[in-house]
Amino acid sequence: MTTAAQTTATLSAGVEPLLQRLVRINTVNSNITGIAKSEAPLAAELESLARGMGFETRRMPVPGQCDNLLVTHRCGAGKPWLLFESHMDTVSIEGMCIAPTGAELRDGKIWGRGSCDTKGTGAAMLFALGRYAAGDAAGDAKPNNIAIAFTVDEEIGMTGVRALIRTGLPSLDFKPRGVIVGEPTRLRPIVAHNGAVRWRVVTRGVAAHSADPSKGRSAIRAMTRVIDAIESRYIARLDARDAMTGKAQCSINMIRGGSQINIIPAECEIRIDRRVVPGEDPQRVLPDVEAVLKELKAADPTLEAEQELLFSAPPLSQRHNGALLAEVQSTLGKLGLPIEPLGVPFATDAGDLDAAGIPAIVIGPGDIAQAHTKDEWLEVDQLHRGVELYLALMHG
Ligand SMILES: [Zn+2]
Repeated sequence: MTTAAQTTATLSAGVEPLLQRLVRINTVNSNITGIAKSEAPLAAELESLARGMGFETRRMPVPGQCDNLLVTHRCGAGKPWLLFESHMDTVSIEGMCIAPTGAELRDGKIWGRGSCDTKGTGAAMLFALGRYAAGDAAGDAKPNNIAIAFTVDEEIGMTGVRALIRTGLPSLDFKPRGVIVGEPTRLRPIVAHNGAVRWRVVTRGVAAHSADPSKGRSAIRAMTRVIDAIESRYIARLDARDAMTGKAQCSINMIRGGSQINIIPAECEIRIDRRVVPGEDPQRVLPDVEAVLKELKAADPTLEAEQELLFSAPPLSQRHNGALLAEVQSTLGKLGLPIEPLGVPFATDAGDLDAAGIPAIVIGPGDIAQAHTKDEWLEVDQLHRGVELYLALMHG
């Protein structure tokens, strides 16, 4: 088939079979399964689909992971670039009560892991780009050059978007003026969300036979004081708040300590999750808690406690996305969709884009309520509206 015939065939089949093809490929995040480069088969499928539709593609390396895939449609030198982004990985399929990769079309929905979060947005973006490009023949004005980044590892490490920012985008001969991040938002524009910082605190003691505890020093006892101090002197005093995303949050959610019932424990560990609101600096979190630990250590020089950062994702603020929002709102208005911007508590790839000074708005078909569920689905009606919205955004 020629490229033109292939594009026509893809477009006339509709966006449903495209989404079904993507859902049939299992892409549970590599950090969950231990299987390396879990997105690779989907990246290959998207690459061959995009090439078949006449688009340029390029792989962008992500250290330790499958490559990100960039699809580009260049329709005029000097025209501004708009970037769309959608992650290819999904959460686990464990405990699902439907066939995770069945991609069944039933009751006006497409069922399967990733249908909603977020292969639906990826399918809608690629399908919309096919229509945008095909519009050429009809003499459609095409004001924007368009790129779609299909990224890896959003659900766990966010290494895909970070590599895109650090090495992928700087390697291009263009700079996108904004990024439309695809996540299920029921087509409402998300302009702000919280970030997350996760870390561990380890206390150390001295192991001894429990027949004579005085010969040892309990790391668990030390940890009870650390927990008490973090709860009362750090968590209780958090007061940062954002009008759109709510209040700063912090909770100690895991504990592990000791090695045997008759040994004074030499080590104890807790894991803490902190939600930072827009305007807060994630890099301030550990130093602030360190100050609390320092006070404890000053009062008791035998106390040994140290922190280690496990994960940090910046919040999405409204510092950079004002102009992009105005554009998205104008498009939403033309389509008769609600234009009021929202904030959400969950983190997305948009936080890192914002932290890098790149304007980003999160918007896409489907509802976050169906993401990560045991019977994940996406309404076909939402999928169609997603295509119309992304196409209209491409037309500007
Ligand atoms: Zn997602």
